[in-house]
Amino acid sequence: MDRQEEFVLRTIEERDIRFVRLWFTDVLGTLKSVAVAPAELEGAFSEGIGFDGSVIEGLSRVYEADMLAKPDPSTFQVLPWRGENPGTARMFCDLLMPDGSPAPADPRHVLQRALTKAGEMGFTFYTHPEIEFFLLRHPHVPGAQPVPVDDAGYFDHVPHGTGHDFRRAAITMLESMGISVEFSHHEGAPGQNEIDLRYADALSTADNIMTFRTVVKEVALEQGIVATFMPKPFSGHPGSGMHTHLSLFEGDTNAFYEAGAPYSLSTVGRQFIAGLLRHGAEITAVTNQWVNSYKRLWGGGEAPAHLTWGHNNRSAMVRIPMYKPNKGQSSRVEVRSLDPAANPYLAFAVLLRAGLKGIEEEYELPPETEDDVWGLTDAERLAMGVDPLPSSLGRALEVMERSDLVAETLGEHVFDFFLRNKRKEWLDYRHQVTQFELDRYLPSL
Ligand code: GLN
Ligand code: MG
Ligand code: MG
Ligand code: MG
Repeated sequence: MDRQEEFVLRTIEERDIRFVRLWFTDVLGTLKSVAVAPAELEGAFSEGIGFDGSVIEGLSRVYEADMLAKPDPSTFQVLPWRGENPGTARMFCDLLMPDGSPAPADPRHVLQRALTKAGEMGFTFYTHPEIEFFLLRHPHVPGAQPVPVDDAGYFDHVPHGTGHDFRRAAITMLESMGISVEFSHHEGAPGQNEIDLRYADALSTADNIMTFRTVVKEVALEQGIVATFMPKPFSGHPGSGMHTHLSLFEGDTNAFYEAGAPYSLSTVGRQFIAGLLRHGAEITAVTNQWVNSYKRLWGGGEAPAHLTWGHNNRSAMVRIPMYKPNKGQSSRVEVRSLDPAANPYLAFAVLLRAGLKGIEEEYELPPETEDDVWGLTDAERLAMGVDPLPSSLGRALEVMERSDLVAETLGEHVFDFFLRNKRKEWLDYRHQVTQFELDRYLPSL
């Protein structure tokens, strides 16, 4: 047993923890949990805990249903939510096949593989997400319209506002679980909030996003409201994004920084962005995985719609933030397309591999677009060589299924499952007749 494992066992005893939840994530980004008694943990650390993977979306085919969940002791946390008495703790797990090899369907493993690839090129990968979400008054009733908890806007201070109390409670809980929050505020739409996590290595950030989504939903329930990460619940208001700042480090040095270069951006940084843009369309089905995700990316609401980059350009997929232009260590690129209902492990893996491809192949970065690309005509955009992001899940899947990069990054199993599952979602959606169509096409008085 290593020192971290010993620490976990000791803490469990000292704090009288009776249940340990083993957490993992399915291909679509849903958190899964199996509780074990502390007595099982020693075995879990050495061999893993067996479970039937066939029940879980994308994790297994029928003929390979036996799987093992092996907890990662570095992710041990006591769960702080109310009513968790006696004490309960959680650890994220790696999923293994019965022979001990990594389960090909484990999203955490997909990200670990991409991180290994970065490591072979000499890089470590850091991410910092800005997570937006809505607070609603009630759980959804089919056919009903959602009701936001307030009517406030961007950075508004709401006196006695639900949002304030909510953010304070959520942040306190996140911090008590070792997740540092950098920033939080009311966002542009009624009931919309944003909480930004401090940057960390990409695997920790992905784990943290899974915890974050759980904590935010738990705190909302405690306060008698509902939190949703649905990308676009209201036609008339902006949607929720998960802008994520990415950086590569070589040892202690930020590889995107070069003093004196435009935007202090190194060649590696420029090539990384070029990779994100060139492969941007292929990876969008993963970063924006729901039919609803594309209702956000239509060109308004400060969400991106084009495969371009710029410094102040909010319609671009990639932005170079310049809050601290002289501080080399904080150089990063902000990807704005990603939404908070993505599977963070898979999304970070495809973003990383797209950027690394740009470095490997020494892609040339196209010129930046500082104009609002949405305001240009199609002919002007064509002349500038500006391509749009896929406009629907159907379009995104068409591009993804031809992508060697995405196939290689996700691995055959996840790639096939994802495409099959999402084609089905798209088909289910295609024959729906919406309220928009009824209102537009039916004769009225
Ligand atoms: N909500 C916007 C989006 O969907 C972002 C708003 C902002 O943070 N500038 O991306
Ligand atoms: Mg922000
Ligand atoms: Mg925001
Ligand atoms: Mg942002």
